[in-house]
Amino acid sequence: MPRSYTIRDPAVEHLAYLCHLAAYTGLVVCLGWLAFFISLKEWELVISLLFLALAILPGWLLAIKGHFSAGLMLAQIACLLFVVIFCYRYDVPGNSVPRTTHLYLPVIALVGYMNYQQNRSRLQAIIILLSLIAFIFYCSTGSLFSIENPIPRSFRVVSSWLNPILATLFLFAGIVAMHTNFSRRTQMSKAIQHALYNEQFILLYQPMVNASGQVTGAEALIRWQHPVSGLLPPSAFLPDAQEAGLMPMIGEWVISRAFKDLLQWQKAAATRHLSVSINITADHLMQPDFVRKLLRRVHANNIPCAQVHLELTESVFVTDPQTVAARMSELAAAGFRFSLDDFGTGFSSLSTLRGLPLEQIKIDRSFIISASESEKGSVIAKNIARMGSELDLEVVAEGIETQQQWSMMKDYGCTLFQGFLFSPPVGVAEFVRLAQGENPKKSTDDPLAP
Ligand code: C2E
Ligand code: MG
Ligand code: MG
Repeated sequence: MPRSYTIRDPAVEHLAYLCHLAAYTGLVVCLGWLAFFISLKEWELVISLLFLALAILPGWLLAIKGHFSAGLMLAQIACLLFVVIFCYRYDVPGNSVPRTTHLYLPVIALVGYMNYQQNRSRLQAIIILLSLIAFIFYCSTGSLFSIENPIPRSFRVVSSWLNPILATLFLFAGIVAMHTNFSRRTQMSKAIQHALYNEQFILLYQPMVNASGQVTGAEALIRWQHPVSGLLPPSAFLPDAQEAGLMPMIGEWVISRAFKDLLQWQKAAATRHLSVSINITADHLMQPDFVRKLLRRVHANNIPCAQVHLELTESVFVTDPQTVAARMSELAAAGFRFSLDDFGTGFSSLSTLRGLPLEQIKIDRSFIISASESEKGSVIAKNIARMGSELDLEVVAEGIETQQQWSMMKDYGCTLFQGFLFSPPVGVAEFVRLAQGENPKKSTDDPLAP
């Protein structure tokens, strides 16, 4: 049974860790306060705490489903509202006891900042800002309001010590977690550069086949032959490389390796027709000298550009669509072909992409899976494929794992196919054997694949 890779993006793992840390410490603190309020028979406070728990629940559920960043944001909003209302209504400073609940606001801001580092959303920035503004506000104001209902002195004496201790501990834990993540990133970035200079990266090729199952080309997919951890998939190091700004360097290596292999394929009649698809990231494409370097390589080595597909994802078009379009046109004029990878996972519609020199769309694997599982899924996949072909685009179905998926996507009008049904990503020698029609031997090139 085919399986997908299990090593997760380290940034996602860090977020998951953050979620669990925040959830468990939050739970312990809430339960502690709940027991204390119950012992004091402060039922209004008990109810307000139960409300907080209820408000955090949707965030927790989101995190369980893997939406860690959104889950953390919802939990922060719930905590922020709770602290603000609690300070406003109950935690009113007196002559002998200070207000202390607002000390949790910098903790919310810190958790928000850690989340923001992984996922730069505007909502997250606003939550951070509001937490800090609320903190400053409650630091500088005393008892100003008429609807306040100060909590009893017995409780305040305890909380005036406990809240600062807990808030300080949380802040400290947050700083340690941030530092750990930062040093992991720095080490990873050094290790990736070291790997580039020491040729620890390898390119595997996953065949792309036509409707009759003949190999027409391959997608180049990077792997890191790590001296200690073994063969690592892209998800284990590309997110860190991206964060460290190393993708242009890695991308240049991938292009040069893929061009070398393409030139080799050109030498034999049986492999001369093969094309190569190369994944290009936004920051690589946006390098000022990207086009110049690529064209120089092509002219120096006589590369058949028409057999090179540059795969872009929709995220490339987000920041500066005009520049991207200009670069694509320049490269398309030189003969390169453009492919839109993971189509359907972003927000762009085919019509907004119509003005671009695209030749191919690759329907994301998730659509193929849902197409084979539900009626709705198959309608979506069918429509994507139909729209693509009506716009004269070549439609590739990615992640084909079963005969049933293959014949279904053929029926829907896809003309090229890629997936474990045909072959996992394999080393260049094995790919050439496959392309020449030899029986695929069970490959050990990519032990991460089934
Ligand atoms: P992608 O460009 O969409 O590549 C397709 C991914 O789907 C590959 O994962 C491939 O092994 C996997 N795949 C193909 N068919 C099947 C299938 O039938 N079942 C399953 N479960 N998986 C299938 P891989 O190699 O781990 O690459 C993941 C992503 O990493 C790529 O997605 C691409 O975005 C990125 N990537 C890989 N190599 C490079 C590279 O050289 N440069 C850049 N910039 N990104 C790369
Ligand atoms: Mg791709
Ligand atoms: Mg893809």
